[in-house]
Amino acid sequence: METELFIGGKWVPSSTGDRFDVKDPATGDVIATVADGSEADATAAVDAAAEAGKAWAATAPRVRGEALRKAWELMTERAGELAKLISLENGKALVDAKGEVTYAAEFFRWFAEEAVRGAGDFATAPSGANRILVTRQPVGVCVLVTPWNFPAAMATRKIGPALAAGCTVVLKPASDTPLTALAMAAILAEAGVPSGVVNVLPSRSSGKVVGKMLKDPRVRKLSFTGSTEVGRILLAQAADNVINTSMELGGNAPFLVFADADLDAAIDGAMIAKMRNGGEACTAANRFYVESSIAPAFSEKLAERMSALRVGPGTDENTQVGPLVNEDTVGKVDSLVKEALSGGATAATGGSRPDGPGYYYPPTVLTGVAPDAPILREEIFGPVAPIVTFTDEAEAVRLANDTEFGLVAYVYTTDLARGLRVSEAIEAGMVGLNRGLVSDPAAPFGGVKQSGIGREGGHEGLLEYLESKYIAVNW
Ligand code: ADP
Repeated sequence: METELFIGGKWVPSSTGDRFDVKDPATGDVIATVADGSEADATAAVDAAAEAGKAWAATAPRVRGEALRKAWELMTERAGELAKLISLENGKALVDAKGEVTYAAEFFRWFAEEAVRGAGDFATAPSGANRILVTRQPVGVCVLVTPWNFPAAMATRKIGPALAAGCTVVLKPASDTPLTALAMAAILAEAGVPSGVVNVLPSRSSGKVVGKMLKDPRVRKLSFTGSTEVGRILLAQAADNVINTSMELGGNAPFLVFADADLDAAIDGAMIAKMRNGGEACTAANRFYVESSIAPAFSEKLAERMSALRVGPGTDENTQVGPLVNEDTVGKVDSLVKEALSGGATAATGGSRPDGPGYYYPPTVLTGVAPDAPILREEIFGPVAPIVTFTDEAEAVRLANDTEFGLVAYVYTTDLARGLRVSEAIEAGMVGLNRGLVSDPAAPFGGVKQSGIGREGGHEGLLEYLESKYIAVNW
């Protein structure tokens, strides 16, 4: 297990000598102490990234792609041990952690293939007077800031396209889950990525070290995944040096079930959309809107499936739902549920925090939730499904859009025309139509409204790390 900073291809202690604890969410016990990156370390990491930048940008795209491909192979070979590490520091069930390793590794494979597709353009100007030549160049040094909910995949989703494009990076992982990010750095180094191209800087002082890097004129790109609240702060800081930004922020996904839906498929989809990662995903279904005629049957079946889930330590093979990541997260879930219950909702299953150690919360289904309940406005980030009924399509769309967020929505109906009509009307960057899982390295992931700016994955994910350069040519 690596626990030092990774700067310029070396494992180094913090310049201050400080370290911080990483805890097992199942017990609250300390599992490792990690070097606590300082502002001076942040500058050293940017130095390393800037120094490595020219040579990496000039490295053949195929060679850059091959290093990413090798990293995919190494991650796949070591999937078991990486999953254990993720589960240990994040708490998620091993089954979810294994899924994450596959998903995370696929970003390396996808962007290994995309590395050779940074093509430009060549055209005759409409006047015929000259030619228009467009070439694409790497943005430059990138600061990548990732959250704790997918410690591997959020890192690879940013590192993959950055490296494919010819950029060098400093990754600041969430302080709850730095171990997986350090393991990614080791794998990339082993895969042949040169020193300084990838630097990883765990730090408890996120605001300070990220702020320091955003002030550095050599940094040209910020890619952030996390809360809208922190995203706003970082966007303001990025404005000072007019830094290129990609922001993956909060979500408040509606899950719409029309009376003509295949009910069993909708329940299967709901279980994935709600319970993947124990509900700790920005794509998690946050609000269930069910047409009133089928609402009792839907609620009953969902409660039955939710109550059958096995809750326990993530590292136990039999566990389906692990603990939440920390006390703040479980405390927030608990208070949102309490508020909903006191506002008139009923718990069809779950609904109260168990006694004992660990940050556990039981799978919960709430019915009769008041339309203005805070649980429908805030990102729950836990295993709780609030159900609200609707009577017609217009109302369903209105309720779905009644939020400042716009990341993803889920729609269940067997009427294809309705499915497409509603998908177009919903204000979201992504829609799962009769599908509870949208994340795919080959597709553009991202949100509208206050859920973010830019897309990750797909071909668009590569373009976020490239600048177009237009050369007007006379001959
Ligand atoms: P979450 O807790 O849902 O992951 P956050 O937005 O709190 O979302 O954190 C996402 C990432 O941003 C983490 O790496 C965290 O350490 C970092 N972070 C939090 N606050 C700040 C800040 N003020 N400036 C820079 N980075 C921050």
